[in-house]
Amino acid sequence: MNEYQLFIDGEYKPAESGKMADSLNPATGEVYASVHQAGVVDAKKALDAAQAGFQVWSQMPAAAREAVMLKAADVMAARQQEMMDVLIDEAGCTMLKAGFEASHTPDFVRAMAGEARRVIGETFESNLPGVFSYSIRKPLGVVLAISPFNFPLLLAIRKIGWALAAGNAVILKPSEVTPVVGLKLAEIFHEAGLPPGVLNVIPSTGGDLGDTLIADKRVKLVTFTGSTKVGALIAAEAAKNHTRCGLELGGKNPLIVLDDADIDYAVDTAAFSNYFHQGQICMTGSRVIVEQGIYDQFCEKFAAKVCQLKVGNPRDPEVIIGPLIRPTQPQFIKDQLDQAVAEGARLLTGGTFVDSFFHPTVVADVTQQMSIFRTECFGPVAAVIKATDYENALEIANDCEYGLSSAVITNDLQKAMAISRGIEAGMCHINGPTVRDEAVVPFGGIKNSGMGREGGRYAMEEVTEVKWVTIQQGQQQYPF
Ligand code: NAD
Repeated sequence: MNEYQLFIDGEYKPAESGKMADSLNPATGEVYASVHQAGVVDAKKALDAAQAGFQVWSQMPAAAREAVMLKAADVMAARQQEMMDVLIDEAGCTMLKAGFEASHTPDFVRAMAGEARRVIGETFESNLPGVFSYSIRKPLGVVLAISPFNFPLLLAIRKIGWALAAGNAVILKPSEVTPVVGLKLAEIFHEAGLPPGVLNVIPSTGGDLGDTLIADKRVKLVTFTGSTKVGALIAAEAAKNHTRCGLELGGKNPLIVLDDADIDYAVDTAAFSNYFHQGQICMTGSRVIVEQGIYDQFCEKFAAKVCQLKVGNPRDPEVIIGPLIRPTQPQFIKDQLDQAVAEGARLLTGGTFVDSFFHPTVVADVTQQMSIFRTECFGPVAAVIKATDYENALEIANDCEYGLSSAVITNDLQKAMAISRGIEAGMCHINGPTVRDEAVVPFGGIKNSGMGREGGRYAMEEVTEVKWVTIQQGQQQYPF
């Protein structure tokens, strides 16, 4: 069994707290690693290191920061198999998902590296004679990144990469159930030549540690990805210090299928949107809203496809449904399903679990009155809802506290346009899945799915401070 310490100031260090926690393999329940847990003293040390690292990193030329990040992408690509192994054994990813995450993340890092040279300002026309008016952008300082378990590599990078490109230093608090992935990231960046202190990784269960860090005035941005409930706590804490806060939170995303859709394609799209990483994705299309003309046919074909998805050992390349990472999640999902069925929903397939493996599930005839319509299950469960027409589908889609991703399957351009404009979500994919992510796009949600955008120039705005500067040519005339 491996033991991991905290990564502070460019090296592994034992936790002053003396606390340890086991990271478990979700498929077997066996201990995967024993990990030092940061306490308040460790958090302060990470802050000191980050503050010092910021002074060095922010003064380096953009091209030098870019070079380190490009090297990090290369190191990450070279260590792909090792990263896949951690993703499978610690995060319960299937081979498919681990391969996707480990191969896409270096591409994200390359895109982020390029942004180092694009920390750009603007010029403005001034009303005053002789005034040259412009803006500059500067890094913020120390960024606190808190990341979730489901894409522990890619989502940690989405928090770290843009911040580093702009010249910030980062403290990453990875998910308490996937700490090793976060620590490996620190190793990779330091192997690539990142100066000590610029990226520090401090595993902990969150809670009080989050508060300690957020309360420290040296933290200039808290960037959080995780549940809506914890996001609200983080935002409230950050508000006490007027600290900038970016939130990427939960979702209950609508996938609308209209009558004219190619049903087989709609079924494939709904399957990918719901069962990739066994539904543990914020963008999961867990509310499948189908127009009435094709509803029965869609349900039949969807259930037929889903019941064939292979469940089991994530190292089997044919397995699509691996384990759920949180031990309490299968029972939570089962309770949601039982309640839905009691309320009149129809279980088409699945609905059972063995240990941490939940069978892929489709429940039909779900209505807006049912709890499952609104509750994020974070598991392999699709709820199918019937709509009378596309306008009704849009109403149903918008009847939700969340607003992260959405999708519509149709070849009717007018309806697709109406839905993409009217849907209350940060992202809408026409004839694509709800699950889609790229580096340089405005990724993020509205309503209870969060605030701010992660990707390209949108992210760069969040990780930099803009300053207005003027230069007076000659002398200004004053009224007195
Ligand atoms: P979570 O909210 O339980 O944990 C997220 C992170 O917050 C972890 O690092 C955890 O240790 C930490 N944390 C927990 N309590 C804390 C506290 N009081 N103070 C500081 N940190 C604390 O979420 P999770 O279970 O890891 O992830 C699943 C959730 O994340 C789902 O709701 C999912 O929709 C959401 N998510 C959103 C996005 C997005 O981009 N919008 C992406 C992935 C996951």
